[in-house]
Amino acid sequence: MKEGKALIETGFNLENSYSGLPEKFFAMQRPSHVPSPKLVMLNYPLIKSLGLNAEELQSTDGVDILAGNKIPEGAMPIAQAYAGHQFGHFTMLGDGRAVLIGEHITPLGERVDIQLKGSGRTPYSRGGDGKASLGPMLREYIISEAMNALGIPTTRSLAVVTTGESIMRETQLPGAILTRVAASHIRVGTFQYASKWSTIEELRALADYTLQRHFQEVKDKENPYLLLLQQVIRNQAELIAKWQLVGFIHGVMNTDNITISGETIDYGPCAFMDAYDPSTVFSSIDIHGRYAYGNQPNIGAWDLTRFAEALLPLLHTDENEALKLAQKEVSHFADLYKNNWIRGMRAKLGIFNEEVADEALIEELLSIMQKYGADYTNTFRILTSGKIEDNILFGKEEFDKWYKRWQERLTRQEESEISSRELMERSNPAVIPRNHRVEEALEAAVNQGDYRVMERLLDALSKPYDHSRELDYYTTLPETSTCPYRTYCGT
Ligand code: AMP
Ligand code: MG
Repeated sequence: MKEGKALIETGFNLENSYSGLPEKFFAMQRPSHVPSPKLVMLNYPLIKSLGLNAEELQSTDGVDILAGNKIPEGAMPIAQAYAGHQFGHFTMLGDGRAVLIGEHITPLGERVDIQLKGSGRTPYSRGGDGKASLGPMLREYIISEAMNALGIPTTRSLAVVTTGESIMRETQLPGAILTRVAASHIRVGTFQYASKWSTIEELRALADYTLQRHFQEVKDKENPYLLLLQQVIRNQAELIAKWQLVGFIHGVMNTDNITISGETIDYGPCAFMDAYDPSTVFSSIDIHGRYAYGNQPNIGAWDLTRFAEALLPLLHTDENEALKLAQKEVSHFADLYKNNWIRGMRAKLGIFNEEVADEALIEELLSIMQKYGADYTNTFRILTSGKIEDNILFGKEEFDKWYKRWQERLTRQEESEISSRELMERSNPAVIPRNHRVEEALEAAVNQGDYRVMERLLDALSKPYDHSRELDYYTTLPETSTCPYRTYCGT
């Protein structure tokens, strides 16, 4: 087959506008050839919404495209350059194990990045092998699709192929490539890279490109770069509030993992919290709790301050004025975040209208949950179903008092009890990707080659707000919670 044929048959309609940026923002890079690609996961609903052809993607040629062995004509694969603060330390990064095949234009005219993750070395690989192993790529697939179903902006997972190679980590592991779909891969770190190593014209080119790609409505307004900062701050405040509301812990909120589009990206050591505790950390390398659950909003503000710093030369010709403008915008983050969070928490408790004391009501519930180690998701699920006797808080004096106050609060609004319950059902997931269920699915897939456990899990996660399904299997906690769950970056 000519490479070009794939373009028509698979439905890929690829451009590469990013390569119109100055050369220092990317490197031309074909994915490495892999010996024997095999398709193990394909996301049918996503394929459909992107206007791709599932049958063709499963054919030998289609799988070769998903493995990086064939490049659709018109595509111009690149690795993107970026920098970032990793655990607070600034460093040069870039796509060290990923290649952007191109931007696919969907039937609705949307532009999305198609990226192969785990596709071999690039000029930004430093000491790494550029590869990824199967477990972590399947994990990203599960969690990103769960996040999407939860209504949280995220990159998506189109497919996973195994490569036929074994790659060296602590042991030999099967190599794999994930096809990731994203609104774009422009990161806070991309701007930090431009700010540190490029001219102001190059920085402006990146900012203009970003405005064109994500914020067209403000690009022709006065001081569009200030509006860019404002929008990114708003999107992140909204995003991080959504994470907090479902108990999601990203695990590596380094500035290179913070997108400008407002999508969640890079599912490394992320996990969902079980028992409510703001100090929860899963990542094995996060020894100081920098990225603990309760610290995510603060880190969001820290990361956005780095973004604002990178934009300074564009905000005003006078340095002091630029600084003042940036500081003002960044200072709004805390309130923006808080407003989103309280709005979401009210909804989780079935509250429509606003009372000043709502915040105290919410905080009190959380502190009772923390005191008794109540499961975060299940507590809200049980409050939604009304079967509170199923919760460990039931019968505890503080909780009973709180419950009474909450019930009284619900009477001080016009909406009916039914509307209130419906609001709670829409706002409290019945099912989340619980760590032991994710591990079980990965174990079966990676060690047994059995993907049925993962398929069943994905099915449960695809309708998280459907409280009528029989989902006990996915809502029960692990039997032994003696050893804390650990997640790893070394993927
Ligand atoms: P991540 O932890 O996926 O956000 O990656 C952080 C940085 O390390 C990015 O620049 C990656 O491209 C790079 N990186 C991660 N794993 C590898 C690898 N196996 N080979 C080369 N670069 C890698
Ligand atoms: Mg990353």
